[in-house]
Amino acid sequence: MIELKTPKEIEEMKPAGRFVGGILRDLKEFTKVGTNLLEIDEFVHKRIVDRKGAESCYVDYAPDFGTGPFAHYICISVNDAVLHGVPFDYNLKDGDLVSLDLAINVDGWVADSAISFVVGEHKDPEDLRLIKCTEEALEAGIAAAQPGNRLGDVSAAVGDVAREYGYPINLEFGGHGVGRIMHGDPHVPNDGRAHHGYKLRSGLVIAIEPWFLKTTDEIYQDPKDGWTLKSSDGSRGAHSEHTIAITDNGPVILTVRDK
Ligand code: MG
Repeated sequence: MIELKTPKEIEEMKPAGRFVGGILRDLKEFTKVGTNLLEIDEFVHKRIVDRKGAESCYVDYAPDFGTGPFAHYICISVNDAVLHGVPFDYNLKDGDLVSLDLAINVDGWVADSAISFVVGEHKDPEDLRLIKCTEEALEAGIAAAQPGNRLGDVSAAVGDVAREYGYPINLEFGGHGVGRIMHGDPHVPNDGRAHHGYKLRSGLVIAIEPWFLKTTDEIYQDPKDGWTLKSSDGSRGAHSEHTIAITDNGPVILTVRDK
């Protein structure tokens, strides 16, 4: 069921959004060549512990697309991993492409956001192009999230950017409604038909999350951890996500990352 929030509820969701956005901003600074993925996880754990009213959405989360309860505070997907990456004992290397996906509940409201970046000196231009594509697709999706438009307009805007860049699109995982829980209705696919689908209205809060792989739309679940989704051909992936609220004045990004 799709739930709409009142303007007051959208205001109440903003602290969660700023908290998640601020952690991702700080993690982009913190994460360098040599940083261990478990240190990143611990960084998030500490921030949650220090914040009254904050609770991880990931710890003990056990949806049907994962294997058993998730046991970490953040998803970290490196190189050919793109979604649901389980942090493990690994020191990042020069040129690694890192995707961080973070959802936290603050005072009963969830915010969900993701960023991708390359660590170190040797950044492959092809990796930067892939990241830029997900960021532009996210911007285009947000711009289309206007009251009166259709959900398909958001999906088509995202998909059009991927097509412009020439990246394949996977439709199994995409954006979703956000509110009291992390994954609510509606599903927001990363491609669709403009002017079709659910009519967007003020009060709808959704995560829009373009993620693309360079040369395939096929993924598989890493049997080592039962969660991490990797590209079937070993090509790298990137992911950009914001939680946004649709208001009478247009879309508002809740997971802002400014100081
Ligand atoms: Mg999400």
